[in-house]
Amino acid sequence: GSVMEKVLQRRSLRLRNMQRSWQESPEGRKMLEFRKSLPAFSEKERLLQAIAKNQVIVISGETGCGKTTQLPQYILESEIESGRGAFCNIICTQPRRISAMAVAERVSAERGEPLGETVGYKVRLEGMKGKNTHLLFCTSGILLRRLLSDRNLNGVTHVFVDEIHERGMNEDFLLIVLNDLLPRRRDLRLILMSATLNAELFSSYFGGAPMIHIPGFTYPVRAHFLEDVLEMTGYKLTSFNQIDDYGQEKVWKTQKQLVPRKKKNQITTLVEDALKNSSFENYSPRARDSLSCWSPDSIGFNLIEAVLCHICRKERAGAVLVFMTGWEDISCLREQLKAHPLLGDPNRVLLLTCHGSMATSEQRLIFERPPPNVRKIVLATNMAEASITINDVVFVVDCGKAKETTYDALNNTPCLLPSWISKASARQRRGRAGRVQPGECYHLYPSCVYEAFPDYQLPELLRTPLNSLCLQIKSLQIGSIAEFLSAALQPPEPLAVQNAIDFLKRIGALDENEHLTNLGKYLAMLPVDPKLGKMLIMGAIFRCFDPVLTIVAGLSVKDPFLLPQDKKDLAGIAKARFSAKDYSDHMALVRAYEGWKDAEREGSAYEYCWRNFLSAQTLQAIHSIRKQFSFILKDAGLIDDDVGSNNKLSPNQSLVRAVICSGLFPGIASNSVNARYQTIPYPWLVFGEKVKVNTVFIRDSTAVSDSILILFGGALGRGAQPGHLVMLDGYVEFFMDTNLAECYCKLKEELDKLLQR
Ligand code: ADP
Ligand code: MG
Repeated sequence: GSVMEKVLQRRSLRLRNMQRSWQESPEGRKMLEFRKSLPAFSEKERLLQAIAKNQVIVISGETGCGKTTQLPQYILESEIESGRGAFCNIICTQPRRISAMAVAERVSAERGEPLGETVGYKVRLEGMKGKNTHLLFCTSGILLRRLLSDRNLNGVTHVFVDEIHERGMNEDFLLIVLNDLLPRRRDLRLILMSATLNAELFSSYFGGAPMIHIPGFTYPVRAHFLEDVLEMTGYKLTSFNQIDDYGQEKVWKTQKQLVPRKKKNQITTLVEDALKNSSFENYSPRARDSLSCWSPDSIGFNLIEAVLCHICRKERAGAVLVFMTGWEDISCLREQLKAHPLLGDPNRVLLLTCHGSMATSEQRLIFERPPPNVRKIVLATNMAEASITINDVVFVVDCGKAKETTYDALNNTPCLLPSWISKASARQRRGRAGRVQPGECYHLYPSCVYEAFPDYQLPELLRTPLNSLCLQIKSLQIGSIAEFLSAALQPPEPLAVQNAIDFLKRIGALDENEHLTNLGKYLAMLPVDPKLGKMLIMGAIFRCFDPVLTIVAGLSVKDPFLLPQDKKDLAGIAKARFSAKDYSDHMALVRAYEGWKDAEREGSAYEYCWRNFLSAQTLQAIHSIRKQFSFILKDAGLIDDDVGSNNKLSPNQSLVRAVICSGLFPGIASNSVNARYQTIPYPWLVFGEKVKVNTVFIRDSTAVSDSILILFGGALGRGAQPGHLVMLDGYVEFFMDTNLAECYCKLKEELDKLLQR
């Protein structure tokens, strides 16, 4: 002990010397000057004292006030300054990988160090940290994973849980676990950070923990709602229908097109009148949800274009931040804007995008100031709402929606739909315009719609399937899943919990008594969805690991097949070349990947991607994730070092199909209704995901035979929902059909008889 103590003391002294010499250097002074200008600085002493006196504190302060980059840094600095630097271990969680990485990079820069020295990061399958790292930014998922093997967080001195106002599933989960841990670790400090003022909720969850608010310094932002925006841009909406298909609920839809009137930008429609005449306030929230005053093919894009033109032509200097729902919309809009004479002119407009899967180089551009007389326009998802701050934004365009997953427990179906944001989000978005000077915010919805927004968004725990979560709870060995989850800030529905438990039993991760099986233990260790984990393990067992690795990597990154709006047919043909006769999206993925590797060897990777409508960036990501997964599996002793060459797809196609089936079961559907597939020897389709978008779709499916399904599928128990299909076109429409369960059971009986003979 005392030897170790001495080593750490010596290290602490070195840390202090390094810190002091940076703080005294010219660059260091300049940086300190900037840091002192942040609102968080005025609260520094109060914070340090509160943290010293209390085990838990809750801090709120507007985005950009310096919570994430400053507060953990204050503790690190004061520990180092007091000569105890090497004894502290601070962890700060972020809801998203990209913010964990960006923030770690920023804090390292503020300390004049390369990333991975005293400040590092760790996100799924990636990280930069070393033996000197005493402040670690990680995703909340990473901290949960660490808790699996280290229940007391030994050696950790401070835990910051950031962005708790977002109520992400992992954050809510972490709070349950930490609440349980605190009595056992009296010396551990927990600091919760929130961008909104609802700190009481968290404070009372932790027995009345003290709250500190950092007063912000944002400039006033003027809010313009749709009414004003229409007037400002000279737009009117063409038509407006009240559809009442079901006789119960009036669904409001804007009839899309904006039709040019006299001048190019003058467009006539009727919605303005409709807005005047309608009693919008009388519609229920669900009906209001259907008001698609914005979506790719509706007035939304044209309206955004008009607003951007208005800003560029008439408004003062300053960057523009446009909030959109997702990557697809962002890329469509970007294409549209590129073709515009003003907005597409790179000498006048710097058009950037900001979303979860962007490259780091692009990410850096967002923070940089454009050349003079060039206007920066950033098209962003709601990622830019709280976790990333772009300082020079003066104008915000807010579409009012965000893609939100919801979960229909009754039908056990996740839904992914753009839906209206909350009042808190809208305010947050607006606030982004007032960072450097008074700003303007254009909300592309009427003010009466805003009034109908809920105050806060529903916590994620209440709107997602709980499969992975329940598996993790089980491996934390904290008793009954249902009991554990009932300790959450807002516990999920019992049916949602039951569905997850049933699922885990069906795939063999839990036994009848809800105990973790051996398979379950391995699945909990793998940083992927349990289905994909099972597929990996089966691939290892059946020695067709290489293609399975590609499939799992592909499914956990995203689809490398591009589907440009204007070339859908050609892209479809290109993809079909990979899946010919196979009826498998998964095999197509493997072939595309293997083809890309070959092309790369011949130096024609670029041409290959272009010709086949493939995203080189995604293939590259799949490639690196593959490496990481195989490393993890080697580490877990599931595969040997020499897997590889004899593990390719070509000699193993049926086996790979079987392994896919064993992973994706009980996601099965029958092909019987689809004439195109009746003739093939594969009457079933297994699929990974069933999502309700407008109707229910399944995506990424593979056709399998009776025998594969019987041998590699599991038992169909309660809640299993086989269905039949209507069309196959990338997405497959899915209908519930209970007869299939019977059909499947008969097959199973027949097999049992056969085996008994
Ligand atoms: P909070 O967590 O309260 O939202 P942050 O700590 O993330 O605030 O950011 C505080 C300030 O630090 C921001 O307002 C911005 O001025 C600056 N900042 C943060 N990240 C960067 C970065 N990557 N580059 C330049 N400045 C940054
Ligand atoms: Mg922050």
